[in-house]
Amino acid sequence: MKHIAILTCLDACKVCTGAGCLKAWNSRSRGFASYAGEAVQLDAFLHCNGCGSDPASDPGMAEKLDRLSSMGVSAVHTGVCTRKGPDRQEYCPNIAKICTLLEQRGIRVIYGTH
Ligand code: SF4
Ligand code: SF4
Repeated sequence: MKHIAILTCLDACKVCTGAGCLKAWNSRSRGFASYAGEAVQLDAFLHCNGCGSDPASDPGMAEKLDRLSSMGVSAVHTGVCTRKGPDRQEYCPNIAKICTLLEQRGIRVIYGTH
């Protein structure tokens, strides 16, 4: 069984239910199309800890990432809300730091949910 998680922007989640992400997951479409027919479990739906936090020194973020590691999560999909700018080409700097921390733990980062 493969284990994955979704990472999103805390600010976006003030107005978003996460339904777009979960709809794509439930139908194995868009960013999750490659998992069709595969035994994969969505284990976590986590957010950054906000614009004022520094993921590199935030014990809460370390705890979340430890949890992903302990569950055997092998890939984290980042939501569209984690990228900023008119064309959403760049990750928010805090998300970019979280992506680096994930990769340092051997967890693959894949852009795209819905
Ligand atoms: S740090 Fe970036 S991803 Fe997190 S809430 Fe702020 S804008 Fe969103
Ligand atoms: S990617 Fe879309 S549905 Fe998922 S949390 Fe971000 S804004 Fe909401």
